[in-house]
Formats: sequence, structure tokens, C-alpha cells
Amino acid sequence: MAEDLTTPLLSDSEVSADAPPVCLTSPTVAILGSGDFSRSLAERLLACGVRVVVGSRCVNRIPSGLFPDAVELRNQEGAVSQGVSVVFMALFPEHYRSLLGLQSALAGKVLVDVSNAAEMNIHGPSNAERLAELFPDSLVVKGFNTVSAWELQTGAHDGSTQVLICSDSTEGKRRVVELARKMGFHPVDMGGLSAAREIEVASLRLFPSWSGSIVVTFLLFFFFYGYGFLRGILLPFLAQGHNAFYRLALGLVNESLPAVALVTLALVYFPGLFAAWLQLWRGTKYQRFPSWLDNWLQRRKQLGLLSFLCAALHGVYSLCQPLRRITLHRLVNTAYRQVKAGVEEPWDELGVWRSELYLSCGVLGLGVLSLLAITSLPSVGNTLNWREFTFVQSGLGYIALTLSIMHTLFFSWDFAFHIEAYPFYMPPSSLLAVVLPCVVLVCRGFLLLPCISTRLARIRRGWESKRNCPVLQTHHVADNGIP
Ligand code: NAP
Repeated sequence: MAEDLTTPLLSDSEVSADAPPVCLTSPTVAILGSGDFSRSLAERLLACGVRVVVGSRCVNRIPSGLFPDAVELRNQEGAVSQGVSVVFMALFPEHYRSLLGLQSALAGKVLVDVSNAAEMNIHGPSNAERLAELFPDSLVVKGFNTVSAWELQTGAHDGSTQVLICSDSTEGKRRVVELARKMGFHPVDMGGLSAAREIEVASLRLFPSWSGSIVVTFLLFFFFYGYGFLRGILLPFLAQGHNAFYRLALGLVNESLPAVALVTLALVYFPGLFAAWLQLWRGTKYQRFPSWLDNWLQRRKQLGLLSFLCAALHGVYSLCQPLRRITLHRLVNTAYRQVKAGVEEPWDELGVWRSELYLSCGVLGLGVLSLLAITSLPSVGNTLNWREFTFVQSGLGYIALTLSIMHTLFFSWDFAFHIEAYPFYMPPSSLLAVVLPCVVLVCRGFLLLPCISTRLARIRRGWESKRNCPVLQTHHVADNGIP
């Protein structure tokens, strides 16, 4: 039977003077196992005023001072018979069977399975389901496995505060949710115990929502890097014997990074525009988007952050340009040749303006992009209301895109119109990179036209065109008396 949670579990005389304050209405919590997780969990529970009993196979082996003094150390049986209502299984699932002798002592108690899956693709029941099979009279709850021992110690101050919980027992789940809240975590109800597998592999996943965006960014980088290598290094070497392989390490990387940053930023806004045009074409917002578009829309934040990373790296690389030996070499040689020939460097008004504008747009673009990156952090984004968030992410986002396009065009406008800029009939990568962003800006411009934006706004407020709403159409026909 489950204990009454409102019954005080400790009498005043049992509380030692130097022990941390233990709330008398708190349930007593037992932890089986005396390893890393057990230690961190015990400290945290204790700090929240919960009485903790740790059950070990061999209490004498636990070095003194490993657990705080207020934690009671018992053998496994002694720990679970201490009037506890919740028992954390802080041991590996392969050792659950060794606890079968405690079946009757654990009956009616909440067993919290904190184990993680050993690998991603395991078939059969989850650890928690196997625990429930071994202890059918207990209330098995899956939870806390996504929190590391370190996060348990730092808790709400640092690290993740989310605790995923699932169970077939509503009562068991309620008690663990209460406990999690008491410990300063945010419990997330994931449903029945069948969700345990999903929770167990959660901590094994490596950036699950980032993989697609990272692959796209890398592919773009390899494309621009490969294109630049072919156009600027390999073909000139084969055709004229001109050796520019030294550019592989810095020059070419710095040429590819801004192109990747620009295209990736365009990819952030492209799916939103595509979705808008799809809604306009369909005349309704109630038809689902294709799954690839859904996926793409969900990856915009990651694409934006990767675009920011590439732009920031481009900024740092560009600042390093004057430190390069080749820059110094060219500068000194050009100066020497001019001195020898008695020629002064002419003042190039257009060139000066171009470089001023190009640098200014780049710096401003990077600044706005940094703002977007910062507001995409949940801790910052949560402080903004919806209007503020869309203003930053959409309004300022398009400003960042425009500034980045201008930065590229101010840099490359000469190249665009000179035949020498197209060696081997290949345009500069900076020109290739602005194509998609320009398409995005033009599409966005069309969406701002009153005739289009009004229709889109109506669709987004639930209006549907007649071909999508046969019921309304029938009413309309009937109202007009036309068969
Ligand atoms: P650990 O340091 O190796 O501790 C495991 C404990 O299990 C041992 O100290 C041992 O304590 C106990 N145990 C009970 N029966 C056992 C048996 N038959 N054979 C061996 N040991 C037995 O492991 P841990 O890092 O605390 O992890 C414990 C559980 O927490 C695992 O399921 C793990 O997936 C989960 N977890 C850990 C973390 C983390 O950050 N460490 C995070 C999330 C989840 P006694 O000798 O005192 O009985």
C-alpha cells in the first residue's frame, strides 16, 4: 500500500540538531545503489528538505564522508522498509534481477527507473518496462535519466532543468512529478510507460535537431570550397602553371564562409515564403504542409545559428588578412615598384566609397545577425512576447539578409561586369551566393503587395477559398437560390 503522504515521517526527536532542515510532510525517499548518481541525488533531495535513505549491498564499503551525514545508510532491505513511498533505482538495469528478493518490500511503492539505454537501436521492452515486469506490484515510473549526476548537483542554477517522466500509474507519476518540482526541476509528462524507450535513448542522441542543418551547411561549404578551388586554384595551375595552392588554408576558406553564411541565411527565410505561397495557392491554411517543408520550417533556428557561425568566422578570418605574409609581400612589392617607377597611387574615389560601404554593411549585417542569434536562445526568447519575437526574427532577419547581400554586392560589383572575372566561364562564388538570397527578397517583396498580403492575412485568420470549403459553398449557393 502506498503511504499517506501527509503523515509526518519523522518525529522531532529523530532530527539531529546539525542535520539540514527536513520537511516533516515530505515523503521519505530511498535510493538503491551508492554510486555517482545516488550520491548526487541524495545531496539534492536532502537540500530540498527530503529525508533520504540509501540502500547498498555492502554499507561498510561506503567510505565515510561520501554521503552527507544526514543521509541514512542501510542495507537494501533496511532502506526500502523505512516507511518510504518512493524508491530510486540508482543502479544499472542488468542488476535489477538481483533485487527480486525485495519484491514484497517494494510492493505498492513507486520505483523510479533512472537508467539510460546502453545503445540506440535496442529491440524489445525498455529498461522501465522490464522493471515493471519484475515488480508487478510496484508503481514503476521512468524519469530523471536525462539529468546527469552533475546537473543534479547544480540543479536549477546551471544545466538542464527538464525531467522527462512517463508511467502507467497516475498516482506514481503524480508523486514523482511533485518530487521533481520540489527539487527545482520542470517535469514533462511523456505519457505511459511505453514512452520509456524514447526517454531512455534521449540522452544518447547527438544533436538530433541539428543533424540536417549541419549536413546542409557542410554540403554548401564543400560546394563553395570545391568550386573556388577549381576556379581559382586548380584550373589556373593546369592552364597557366600559376601556383596558388597556399590559398587553400585561409584565402579559400574565407572566400567560402561568407557564401555559406549568405545562402544558409536565405534558407532560413525561404521555407516561410514557400509556405506562404502554398497557402495562397491552396486558398486555405487547413491543409498540412508536406513533411519535408514541415521539417525545414523546424530547422530554421539551427540554420540561422550556423549562418551566424559562418559569418562570425568570416569576420575573424578577414581581420587576420593583413597579418598574412602574402598581403605584406604584395604591399611591399607594389610600393617598391611604384617608387621605382616614380608613380603615386591615384586616389580612387569610387573604390574608396565601395570599400567603406562594403565594410559597413558587413559589420552591420553581422551585428544584426548576432542579435538574432542571441534572441533565439530560449532564456532570452522567453522574455519576449510574440510580437517582439517575430519583429526580431522576421523583421530584423530580413534586414540582416539585405545588409549581407549589399555587403557581397559592394565587394563584388566590379567582378560582375568584367569578362576577366569569369575565367573558364565560371562566375565568382560571391555572385553565385547572392542568387538565392535575392530570390528570397523578391518573393518577400511580392508578399508585401497589398493585394497579396491582405489575402494571406485572411487565410491565416481562418478564411478559405470556396473550392476548399464545399459546405460554405453549398450555403452560399442555397442563399442565392441558384441550384
Ligand atoms: P555507478 O556509479 O556504477 O553506481 C551503480 C551502483 O549500483 C553501485 O554503486 C552499486 O551500489 C549498485 N548495485 C546494486 N546492485 C548491484 C549489482 N548487482 N552489481 C553492481 N552494482 C550494483 O553508476 P551510476 O553512474 O550511479 O548510475 C546508476 C544508474 O543511474 C544507471 O542506470 C545510469 O544509467 C543512471 N544514470 C546515471 C547518470 C550519471 O550521471 N551517473 C545520469 C543519468 C542516469 P552498492 O554497491 O552500494 O549496492
